[in-house]
Amino acid sequence: MDKFERNYIDGEWVTPSSTRTINVLNPSTLESIATVPDSDASDIDRAVAAARAAQPAWERLPAIVRAGHIRAVANKLREHKTRLARRISLEQGKILPLAEVEIDFTANYMDYMAEWARRIEGEILNSDRPGETIYLHRRPIGVVAGILPWNFPFFLIARKMAPALVAGNTIVIKSSEETPLNAFDFTELLAECGLPKGVFNLVSGGRDTGARLAEHKDVGLISFTGSVGTGMRIMEAASRNLTRVNLELGGKAPAIVLDDADLDLTANALFNSRVLNTGQVCNAAERVYVQRAVAQPLAERLTRLMSEARYGNPLTDSALHMGPLMNQTAVNKIAGLVDAARQQGAQVLTGGRIADRPGFHYEPTVLASCSDDMAVMTQEIFGPVLPLRVVDELDEALALANDSEFGLTSSVFTRNLNLAMKATRELRFGETYVNREHFEAMQGFHAGRRKSGIGGADGKHGLYEYMETQVVYLQTP
Ligand code: NAD
Repeated sequence: MDKFERNYIDGEWVTPSSTRTINVLNPSTLESIATVPDSDASDIDRAVAAARAAQPAWERLPAIVRAGHIRAVANKLREHKTRLARRISLEQGKILPLAEVEIDFTANYMDYMAEWARRIEGEILNSDRPGETIYLHRRPIGVVAGILPWNFPFFLIARKMAPALVAGNTIVIKSSEETPLNAFDFTELLAECGLPKGVFNLVSGGRDTGARLAEHKDVGLISFTGSVGTGMRIMEAASRNLTRVNLELGGKAPAIVLDDADLDLTANALFNSRVLNTGQVCNAAERVYVQRAVAQPLAERLTRLMSEARYGNPLTDSALHMGPLMNQTAVNKIAGLVDAARQQGAQVLTGGRIADRPGFHYEPTVLASCSDDMAVMTQEIFGPVLPLRVVDELDEALALANDSEFGLTSSVFTRNLNLAMKATRELRFGETYVNREHFEAMQGFHAGRRKSGIGGADGKHGLYEYMETQVVYLQTP
């Protein structure tokens, strides 16, 4: 069993003051693969102090120099892609090709954010006074706290650190207690790239460690990705210091399938949503509203695809569609949702049971005849289960889709441009996909409405979340 004993603070690997540790499991075999520090308040204090001390000098560097550091780390990650991908598969259960995509996407994302160095703009405004010019600067906020979930743990480090650092902030990353090892790998490689001390800090720990970071008075922005419940607790903690929050939370994405849709394309896109990362993707389609005339042929296609989906241990089986779920809690939650739906009258077209094999597996499942009062239609499933609900017309589907506490992503499948446009106008979600799978681009803006979050990530608008505005009134004689 490997041991990862230290945090990375102020450019050094330091022994935590906490002696508590967290045991990390391989979700495919349930074997212990490592122990990591469960850091305490003084470890967080030390990391935030280092980030705070490093920030003014980092901000004074030209943005293009900061960008050079980010690019150097991106290139280093590319050199170690195979090893990094295997670690993600080992601790998170992703299939290897997807883990490799995660490494590529991480490095490309860092390059993309680095490109903004020469493009961050302020404004010059006319004054009402003679001899005065008004400047509007975009300035860094200070210390950013990045608190991570486990589903795309490696990419999410970059999604927080790259915009934070190019903007002139420093950062403290708190990895997920489920998948901490890849964050050590990221940091080990970053440590070889010569960033100034204290600009990037990693603290390993669980929810108490995260809570301490969220309530820290010297943190200027909490950038959090995770569940709605934790997002609410973080906002409460942030309120004590009026710290800014950027919250990327859960989803319950509706997919609307109209009777003129290309059904093969639609079925493949929906299948992809439920098997990509074993359905553990916040923006993937989680509930389908299908027009009556095509309900049967769509259900047949999905049943075939899901019943033929191959799953297992991504490090020993090749050619898989998906690996295991993250933990036993996820398996139990999914089993509870499906069992309750079945009792309420849902028809199990395929799957519907905990898989009888090693690892945290649930059978790929399609549920027909679902109704709006079923928890499987309202709560985040985060697994390989797809509930179908028949509708008669687009307006009905739009009303049902919008009637959700979540508002992250949505989709519509139709060949009718007028109906597609109507749907995009009326869907109250941060993102809408038309005739394609649910997955965002780095130049877009990934942002949830309602309980799916506050603020967003990616693109220009995501970068500007890591900056605040200073106005200068310059009076000259
Ligand atoms: P989680 O909320 O359980 O944990 C996320 C992180 O928060 C962990 O690092 C955890 O230690 C920390 N944490 C827990 N309690 C805390 C507290 N009180 N204060 C501060 N930190 C605390 O989420 P998870 O199970 O790791 O991730 C899955 C969830 O993430 C799903 O709901 C998914 O939809 C969501 N997610 C959203 C997006 C998005 O972009 N919107 C992306 C990925 C995942």
